[in-house]
Amino acid sequence: MPRACTVCEHPERDAIDAALVSGEPVRALARRYGLSSSSVSRHAHNHLSAALAAMQSQEQAERRASLLDRIETLIGRAETMFATASEEGKASQALNVLKELRALLELLGKATGELDTRPQVTVNLLTTPEWYTVRDALLSALTPYPDARAIVSGRLLELEAGETT
Ligand SMILES: [Zn+2]
Repeated sequence: MPRACTVCEHPERDAIDAALVSGEPVRALARRYGLSSSSVSRHAHNHLSAALAAMQSQEQAERRASLLDRIETLIGRAETMFATASEEGKASQALNVLKELRALLELLGKATGELDTRPQVTVNLLTTPEWYTVRDALLSALTPYPDARAIVSGRLLELEAGETT
């Protein structure tokens, strides 16, 4: 029969867990709550992780949410710049914005965990609905400028083929 954990059964367990999470030394905690160091460290090792993991993922979720907000703001800005450049028929400018947009979408994908971070990330990115939306928007915006459209279309094919220059 497994020994009961004196920390889990301790009336101040929540306070002990909180102190452990904030990095307080096991020895000091053990002394304060009248426990043995070994039972506190065993508890920290075996029983705290679930609570700790939940806290960390909550924190991570918040960080991720604010990161996503920032990336989405940047994407919105890039899309506006892109639309302006396209409307003015400035193909090279539009392409530069598009590259930036691609990097932002990639970042967004990583941040949301939708994309794998392994090397095929670019391939994955270029099959996302966002990419096709941007691509279609670009090409249709350039319809009045057949020359620019042809250049951009060619460069997009290169990008999609994995060329980065
Ligand atoms: Zn325990």
